[in-house]
Amino acid sequence: MSAPEGQGSVGAVVIIGSGQAGGRAAEALRQGGHGGPIAIIGDEAHPPYERPALSKEFLGDASLAKIAWVRPADWYAESGITLLHGRKALRIDRAQSMVEVDDGSRIAYENLILTTGTRPRPLTLEGSAHPLVSYLRTIEDSRRLQQRMLPGAHIVVIGAGFIGMEVAAAALLRACKVSVLELAPLPMARGVPPLLGAFYADLHRQKGVALRTGASVRRIGDDNGRALVELDNGEVLTADAVVVGIGVIPNVELAQAAGLEIDNGIVVDEYGRSSDPKIYAAGDVSSHFNPLLGRHIRLESWQNAQNQAIAVARNILGARKPYAEIPWFWSDQFDLNLQIAGVPQAGDEVVQRGTLGGGPVVFFHLREGRLVAAIGINSARDVRFGKEIIALGGQVGAAELADPAVSLATLFNNLKRSAKAA
Ligand SMILES: Cc1cc2nc3c(=O)[nH]c(=O)nc-3n(C[C@H](O)[C@H](O)[C@H](O)COP(=O)(O)OP(=O)(O)OC[C@H]3O[C@@H](n4cnc5c(N)ncnc54)[C@H](O)[C@@H]3O)c2cc1C
Repeated sequence: MSAPEGQGSVGAVVIIGSGQAGGRAAEALRQGGHGGPIAIIGDEAHPPYERPALSKEFLGDASLAKIAWVRPADWYAESGITLLHGRKALRIDRAQSMVEVDDGSRIAYENLILTTGTRPRPLTLEGSAHPLVSYLRTIEDSRRLQQRMLPGAHIVVIGAGFIGMEVAAAALLRACKVSVLELAPLPMARGVPPLLGAFYADLHRQKGVALRTGASVRRIGDDNGRALVELDNGEVLTADAVVVGIGVIPNVELAQAAGLEIDNGIVVDEYGRSSDPKIYAAGDVSSHFNPLLGRHIRLESWQNAQNQAIAVARNILGARKPYAEIPWFWSDQFDLNLQIAGVPQAGDEVVQRGTLGGGPVVFFHLREGRLVAAIGINSARDVRFGKEIIALGGQVGAAELADPAVSLATLFNNLKRSAKAA
């Protein structure tokens, strides 16, 4: 795919979606020297912020001081950026290069960046609209949940993905009674191999979480304002809050209606450009071509929301640099920091460095003799070196990876040296 033309003087840039990616794109445009108009249209009541705290520390202390804002609220006006928050973009008029906003205004763009993110996948069972059933995406969602997490309250989490498991850990720390219901045999099954899923299941149970796997919810009923979560096996759990974490749906409708190519997200190339060269997409909503992986991928991660948005902004300013990064994600539960670099798959050869449950441990995934993923618990440094090694092609031996006496920094430096020499 050819690189975007260097555009010399770039005109108005409009960004739809004021999440992390939208905020970072605006910041990078100004930092990159763009002097033209920038407008961000976002339907939340806040300036752009990062979401990871919402299922972690914010559930312990829901004060706005705990929020990682992309930039302080007054930075946007000071930087000449029009931040339309609390406003929804309704339509993209590609023929006129205009965006229609729900206040009736139309905003002209020379380049448009779509950072519309994702929304929680809704529960569709009978009773899903019960007032105690909630999701976790925004500051308001997290606040509401925190207020319901009173000591002794029974919090029922539907879905044992990363967010569900983080909520369970946070609720336990607030002295709640916690049940987690998961259809799959293990938690976090989409993100971590079975061995780690089983480890986290044991950990949560030991701490006091009633984690039920293979559990299917039939309907939600009501008992004098409390929610009754009825399982297919006939069991009924009485809940003071039901938190649903069963995945997300990319917000592609606007792009789809405008005729852009969609395939599990807005399809963009390695420069972040959609099927319309004036329109870019970044963050959770984009399915981008990753040159290091050789395929399109849609990621739901902090790193991608930040760095892909920055790459897109720079490409609009003429950088012509592909966004090529090894995916990276983390999750904090109790005192364990889990980090995943790369894209692990079932069937990978897995070697282990360290003892699971006995301090730092890393699982290295190899495919066709190359390192493709590193998953570590409390071993940020090793995962970081693993990520660098993967980006360089991953040509390291399984035995070296498994041996704690072999320095990963040395393996990385050797690989870097041979890459330079080649
Ligand atoms: C609770 C929680 C915990 C997380 N924890 C981690 C973690 O530990 N580690 C990690 O790597 N990642 C984590 N993530 C993921 C990370 O936060 C996301 O990948 C990131 O927020 C994506 O940013 P984004 O800007 O692409 O999308 P979003 O954050 O979804 O922002 C998109 C914005 O666009 C708005 N929007 C959509 N359509 C329109 C429209 N038509 N008009 C106007 N506005 C619109 C949306 O309302 C939203 O405000 C977590 C996410 C959540 C929800």
